[in-house]
Amino acid sequence: MQRYVLAVLLVGGAWLTGAYSTARAAPCLMVTLTGTQSGPAIFDGIAGAGTLVRYGDDSNECGALKLQFDAGRGTILRLSQVGVVPGQLNAMFFTHMHSDHTEGFAEIAQLRWNFNSAGPKLDVVCSEDAISTLGFTLSCKKLVMHIGDLFIQSGEIAQRISEDKQRLPGGPADILNIVTFQPTNEQQIVWTSGEVRVSAIRSTHIAGHASYRVDTPVGSVVIGGDASNDSLEPSRLTSTSDQVEKLAKGADVIVHSTMHPAMAPDKDSGMPPPVYYRQAATADLGAMAQRAGARYLMLTHMAPPLGAQRHGPYKVPGGPLADADYRKVVEASGFTGITIVGTDLATIRLPANRRNKSAFPERNYQWRRTQRTVDPPPAIRDRCRGHPLDRSRGEGFVHRAKSESAMIGNGSSARTA
Ligand SMILES: [Zn+2]
Repeated sequence: MQRYVLAVLLVGGAWLTGAYSTARAAPCLMVTLTGTQSGPAIFDGIAGAGTLVRYGDDSNECGALKLQFDAGRGTILRLSQVGVVPGQLNAMFFTHMHSDHTEGFAEIAQLRWNFNSAGPKLDVVCSEDAISTLGFTLSCKKLVMHIGDLFIQSGEIAQRISEDKQRLPGGPADILNIVTFQPTNEQQIVWTSGEVRVSAIRSTHIAGHASYRVDTPVGSVVIGGDASNDSLEPSRLTSTSDQVEKLAKGADVIVHSTMHPAMAPDKDSGMPPPVYYRQAATADLGAMAQRAGARYLMLTHMAPPLGAQRHGPYKVPGGPLADADYRKVVEASGFTGITIVGTDLATIRLPANRRNKSAFPERNYQWRRTQRTVDPPPAIRDRCRGHPLDRSRGEGFVHRAKSESAMIGNGSSARTA
């Protein structure tokens, strides 16, 4: 009996001290916002909407698997800043067929075709063709099939194939493997790899909109996209999607588009009510995250962007918003988890890094807010001297310093808190 107790203690002790983990490195998950701009508007270099989810272990910086959700403009540049190139992506997922979520994909597909035609095809996961009540069809399949058409028509594809016969004859679409599903009100698994599972659920914004959930052994993340409530009338209980709330039950992280109350139709922003109402209001999103039990809420695709006087053609009543303006709306909603007011490259790591106990590996979420006040390290300052962009602390210089600091450590020189 005593021997039995001792054996149990030994086994239990081994588990508690993590002795099993010596067999393999500790698994981890990273969620990175590759772009936080809302809608087709453009502002201050912010990339279009997208989220990179990486899963792996300590030995590969959580990067054995790399999944990209949406690819707005400039996604490829943000990916390059975290050391990810198109040839490394395992799958691409689209929430819906709006250009602010898709236009960056042409660059990704073109570059993968250029350099990785001999490699595996990239899975592109999205909704089946969806016919709008107004009669037109939203087709992810056609977007994928025609993703390289501009470059086929210009003659570039033929010219590049003449240089390298390994390049696939049909252009970028040839290296893509489309996987479509019919979004429904129940969660369905749409993609798996090993112990990682991606599920989808139908949500409202435009026809064919879907939201996703990634489950891994160390945590789960929901990517809501531009989801809003099925009821588009303001008399509804909430502007958030009931299906997304169901999908998000027990998730660790929710990444979601949001609309600040400053833009409400009664506040003189000029934004048409249907545009306002088809996004999740910030307060409703905080309340939903609380009901779902999420630990982290990452606001993204924020309308308006931080610091903007205008959001596209619409004015921001009361002047530009700061981080705190979003944060206080979420806090007032009763959300008791951690709110990340999204900036490009904001990153969460699960589990939190054991060394510094931080879920924010590079403090990237501070990056944009602090970039203008960062002095480049002397080595970079010297390298920039005489460069055409060096306007002695003018905007060009800051830009150069920004990209250099990204190169040397994902904004680590912007660490402030
Ligand atoms: Zn959008």
